Amino acid sequence: MKNAEIIAVGSEMLTPTRVDTNSLWLTDKLNTLGVEVVAKYVIGDDRTRLAETVQQALVSSDFVLISGGLGPTEDDVTRDSVALALGREQTFHAPISDAIEARFRKMNRVMPEINKRQAMVIAGAEILSNDRGTAPGQWLEVNGKVVAILPGPPHELKSMFERECLPRLEKMLPAVAIRILGLRISGMSESELDQTISPIYKQYENPVTTVLAHNGDMQVHFRARCETVEAADALLAEVGAQVDAVLGDRIYSRNGDTLEAVVGQKLMAKGQTLAVAESATGGGLAERITSTPGSSAYFVGGFVTYTRRMKTLFLGVSEELLAQHGAVSRETAQAMAEGAREKTGADWALAITGNAGPTTDGEEAPVGTIYVGLAGPEGTEVNHRVWAANDRARVRAFAGQMALDMLNRKL
Ligand code: ATP
Repeated sequence: MKNAEIIAVGSEMLTPTRVDTNSLWLTDKLNTLGVEVVAKYVIGDDRTRLAETVQQALVSSDFVLISGGLGPTEDDVTRDSVALALGREQTFHAPISDAIEARFRKMNRVMPEINKRQAMVIAGAEILSNDRGTAPGQWLEVNGKVVAILPGPPHELKSMFERECLPRLEKMLPAVAIRILGLRISGMSESELDQTISPIYKQYENPVTTVLAHNGDMQVHFRARCETVEAADALLAEVGAQVDAVLGDRIYSRNGDTLEAVVGQKLMAKGQTLAVAESATGGGLAERITSTPGSSAYFVGGFVTYTRRMKTLFLGVSEELLAQHGAVSRETAQAMAEGAREKTGADWALAITGNAGPTTDGEEAPVGTIYVGLAGPEGTEVNHRVWAANDRARVRAFAGQMALDMLNRKL
C-alpha cells in the first residue's frame, strides 16, 4: 500500500485561531484512492525547516502533498524550500506570469512586480493550473516518488487537486475498490463501544477501522480496500455481521443519517407526532430535531420551562410535586413529559430536566444529573444518568442524545 504525508505551510496555522483543514480533506481523497496518510505536519514560514521536513517525508513516503505558502511575498516560502530540499534550480516561466497579469487586468488592476515570483518553476516540475486563484501548483516526480505543491486557500486547493492531481495519482496507483461501512451508534460510552468491538476489528488489518465519538454520539467506519467491489463488500459484510451481533439495536444508522433524522423517519412512517419540554437543555433538543428538513411533518413544538413557575404554568407540573421532589427529579421529568403530551396532543413527548453545572444552584441533584421523561401512547418512562463531565456544553449535549436515543429505541 502506498503512503502519503501532508505538510500544511503557514505560520498562521500555528496560532490558536487557524486550523489546517486542507489536510483533512486531502486525507479523505487519498484514502479513497487506497493511499494511507502516515504523517501530517504544520510548518511555519521557514525555508530551512520546511526543506528539512520535505526531505524527511520523502524518505518514508511515496507522496508528499504540500499546501500553502505559494503567495508572492517574502514569507511565502514553499517554492524555495522544495527547490532547496530537492537541490533543483527554479526558472522564470513567462506564460504563468502573463496569465497572472491577465487576471489582474481583468480585475482592473496592475500586477505588482512581486507577483512574478509566482511564475518561478522548479526544474522538472509539471505546472498545475489554478482556476480559482493566481498561484499555480507544481507536480514533481523524484525517484518514483511525488511532491505536489498546492495553494493554501481551500477552494483553490480542492479544485486543483481534483482536476490536476487525481488523474495523475490514478494513473500511478493500481485499480482498487474502496468500500466503507459507516455505523452510527448511541446508548453506550466510547470505552464500552471500543471494548465491545475491538476483539473483532483487531483481527483485521483490512478493513481499516476508525472510531469517532462526540458527546455520546459515536461513529465506527470500516474501510475495506480490495481488488474488486464485490470482494470489498464481502469483507465488510463479514465484519459487519460480527459487529451487528455484539451491538444490536445500539446501531441506529448505517447510511450516515443522524439520530434526529432516524427518529424523524420512524415517526413519519408511523404517522405520529412529537413534542418536547426542556429545562436543562434550554431548547437544544428542539433545535436538533428541527435541524432535520421536513421535521414539521412530525414535530409539533415544545416548551422551554426553565423555572419552577414556568413548569407549573405551561406544563401543569404541580407546585406540591416540585416542592416535594425538586425540579431535577424523576417525578418532575415524568410530569413534564406528560404535561407536554397533554397540552400539545402529540403522540410522544420528551422532557429533560437536570443540572448541567458547573455549579449547583441549590437543587439536591449533583452536577451532571439528567432525567429524561418519555410520555407515549402506552405510558411514561423516565431514565436517569449522572455524567462525570464537568462541562456544561457536554452534559447538555449528552442529555439531548439520551432523549433521542430513548425515543428511537421505543419506536
Ligand atoms: P495565496 O496565493 O492566496 O497567498 P497561498 O498558497 O500562499 O495562496 P497561504 O497564503 O498559505 O496560501 O494561505 C492563504 C489562506 O488560505 C490562509 O489565510 C488560510 O485562510 C487558508 N489556508 C492556508 N492553508 C490552509 C490549510 N492548511 N487549511 C485551511 N486553510 C488554509
